[in-house]
Amino acid sequence: MSDLNKLGLAEARDALRKGDVTSVELTESCLTAIDAADALNAFVHKTPEIALERAKAADERIKGGDAPSMCGLPIGIKDLFCTKGVPSQAASKILEGFKPEYESTVSQQLADAGAVMLGKLNMDEFAMGSSNETSVYGNAVSPWRRGNDDAQLTPGGSSGGSASAVAADLCLAATGTDTGGSIRQPAAFTGITGIKPTYGRCSRWGIVAFASSLDQAGPMTKNVRDAAIMLEAMCGHDPKDSTSAELAVPNFEAMLTGDINGKKIGIPKEYRMDGMPAEIEKLWADGAEMLKDAGAEIVDISLPHTKYALPAYYVIAPAEASSNLARYDGVRYGRRAQLAQGDGITEMYEKTRAEGFGHEVQRRVMIGTYVLSAGFYDAYYNRARKVRTLIKKDFEDVFAAGVDAILTPATPSASFGLGEMTEADPVQMYLNDVFTVTVNLAGLPGVSVPAGLDKQGLPLGLQLIGRPWEEGDLLNTAYALENAAGFVAKPAKWW
Ligand code: GLN
Repeated sequence: MSDLNKLGLAEARDALRKGDVTSVELTESCLTAIDAADALNAFVHKTPEIALERAKAADERIKGGDAPSMCGLPIGIKDLFCTKGVPSQAASKILEGFKPEYESTVSQQLADAGAVMLGKLNMDEFAMGSSNETSVYGNAVSPWRRGNDDAQLTPGGSSGGSASAVAADLCLAATGTDTGGSIRQPAAFTGITGIKPTYGRCSRWGIVAFASSLDQAGPMTKNVRDAAIMLEAMCGHDPKDSTSAELAVPNFEAMLTGDINGKKIGIPKEYRMDGMPAEIEKLWADGAEMLKDAGAEIVDISLPHTKYALPAYYVIAPAEASSNLARYDGVRYGRRAQLAQGDGITEMYEKTRAEGFGHEVQRRVMIGTYVLSAGFYDAYYNRARKVRTLIKKDFEDVFAAGVDAILTPATPSASFGLGEMTEADPVQMYLNDVFTVTVNLAGLPGVSVPAGLDKQGLPLGLQLIGRPWEEGDLLNTAYALENAAGFVAKPAKWW
């Protein structure tokens, strides 16, 4: 077998079990691909020794007939996950040199299931961004290009390194995290699948916190089946995260029948934004048609508070971030600024934070501190929390009326060029999240499935939003959509 790095999780798992390949072979193939792809700047800390050691152990387990779902499968881990003894920097200068003494629950569960970690993946600093341009490591680059134009494009953000690495076949799959769209938007930009599970499905323990009431980990994979396999390994109750749900984890893969006969799919009218590109409109309409042809009933629905979601998110997320990031003070983790003679503790905090945090992170800390300040707490933070409740209720009403899933575009456009938004108002960048943040505010599961190409040949994704805790059913609908859309395009190799 050649090009083993191009396999998906399910294919590789089956080949491993049949004895057609070994984990060491799979892993070496990925390590070679990674070394040849420095131009993508996706892997920012490579861990080949750990990978080969785990691959050998996996091969032993497989030989012994003890092969859990992810056994021997090489994957990448977003830099936001703490990995024991391996740099875990959240793409920030302030965490330079930080090697955790502990392993995040999710990456530990993946390791326990036999997965092989190839290294850590690029991302936006502290997961704040939609283009991977706020990273201390520099931009991650998409393997996709517009036609014959060689301008470098964004893989999306914040899980840009994960998206780029999976789309370019540097690994079989990767972990991502999603606070407002950071799994689904980069998945859509790079033609891969990404699911953010219900809030509480995956433990947040050991994942560097951005906005704790919104953050969730999830898989970024080459197809829906792989997402089902990897999600099952990632989720489950964890006593170390008080918001993690005490619910049994279903066998998601077994739920992929492709049968969606009689399912009710809602099309929310509020997601039809002014100025939405015609190709996104068309993709959305085509997606609804495909689900209908597969036996689903398409219904028009209303989620009336949608227009307040982005403003509410950009109050709540920075508020929580400003509080979570208070711990980076030059004492406990990573980097401390050089101090001058006579500097005291205040100067140490100020200098460390001024040089350790990038501009976007500083902007969020300032917004967050402002909206939480005594005079403005009610006007901004409490009001945003009320809006959040209304947004959640919009979804509850629709699900109570019998809707099984909601179909929307994943992003308002295809990927854009790196640097193209540098001069723009930051709010321009925030608009990328218009279709995804509602899902985090309501704590629901959402999946992005590649569904077509724009006229420049770039991938476009559709989003399906499901009922809480029903990721299995949601993935099955995504599977039906994937089968109907038949998306097979791959980026032409230039790196
Ligand atoms: N782009 C959004 C933000 O910058 C979402 C990020 C995320 O989901 N981590 O906040």
